[in-house]
Amino acid sequence: MKAWEANIRKVVPYVPGEQPKDKDVIKLNTNENPYPPSPMVREALRNLNVDQFRKYPDPAITALVNELAGYYGVKPENVFVGVGSDDVLAMAFMTFFNSSKPILFPDITYSFYDVWADLLNIPYETQKLDENFQIVKEDYLKDNGGIIFPNPNAPTGVLQELSVVEEIISKNQDSIVMVDEAYIDFGGESALPLIEKYDNLLVVQTFSKSRSMAGMRIGYAFGGEKLIKYLNDVKYSFNSYTMNQTSIDLGVACVQDKEYFENTVQKIIKTREWTKEELKKIGFSFQDSMSNFIFATHESRKAKEIFEALREHKIYVRYFNKPRIDNFLRISIGTDAEMQQLIAFLKDYLR
Ligand code: PMP
Repeated sequence: MKAWEANIRKVVPYVPGEQPKDKDVIKLNTNENPYPPSPMVREALRNLNVDQFRKYPDPAITALVNELAGYYGVKPENVFVGVGSDDVLAMAFMTFFNSSKPILFPDITYSFYDVWADLLNIPYETQKLDENFQIVKEDYLKDNGGIIFPNPNAPTGVLQELSVVEEIISKNQDSIVMVDEAYIDFGGESALPLIEKYDNLLVVQTFSKSRSMAGMRIGYAFGGEKLIKYLNDVKYSFNSYTMNQTSIDLGVACVQDKEYFENTVQKIIKTREWTKEELKKIGFSFQDSMSNFIFATHESRKAKEIFEALREHKIYVRYFNKPRIDNFLRISIGTDAEMQQLIAFLKDYLR
């Protein structure tokens, strides 16, 4: 080791799902939306004024904050926008998790949480999901420095009832509770209305899944005015211009097309329900998913082996070589045609 290496911050980074160069791949590994963004986004892109690129973008991201506030029926002071929900969550970890007590999150969950906690020196304690991958709410009723969990959870797809979510928030009013709702539009009930009742709640959502805009990197959060102010103070202390002007403009257009958004989500839910039935017929089992993916295990064949066979056949799904979930595949919901190809291959392979 070189002498200068002693003073270097060494971290184990988060590993995102693969983005293959090959266009022929059926890509069911990163929970992207299989449908393009709204035609209104295409139109907004066509009308984009390139001259504006010489100027810095609006640091307050006012246009998108206002559009989201209008859409969700809250005040602009209740909305924070960032570069994907990963950016929003990272800022929120920095802002809200500063206690010497450990933050709490599930043992099986979004694998960025422990990475941010390690990066920011936040102590944490994971809480074991039960054998059906459900949160044991009593585990979240102990002294803590903050709480975060996705609802529906990732990579399990399991949705917690809003009453359970509310109980965790209401019994932890001395710390911040973050509900990561990256997948909430695919059938769950959002905790958003609870921000009026609880000033310790932050609800985080994204354009990456239900709104088909993962490539534009837009995430947002709702909370009481005080929380959003604290979050913006940290953001402005880190980087004033987090969002580029193109993402802001296209994000606004996306939110304006409510009908397209709702139709796309309904199509994905329909395909998901069809896929569930087909997977059951060929020996897979899973907890009921309310997200745009299914987390499934097979009765006789090893997940890793199926994962590799699929990959060989240019169908990419996600496999996590981690305790408790190393015999599961996370399969994102694609188009009907893609899911039919997946099922056809599996039927043949598992014979
Ligand atoms: N939260 C969860 C639970 C996720 O699965 C993801 C997707 N990787 C994110 C947040 C981040 O998504 P994005 O940064 O694209 O908004």
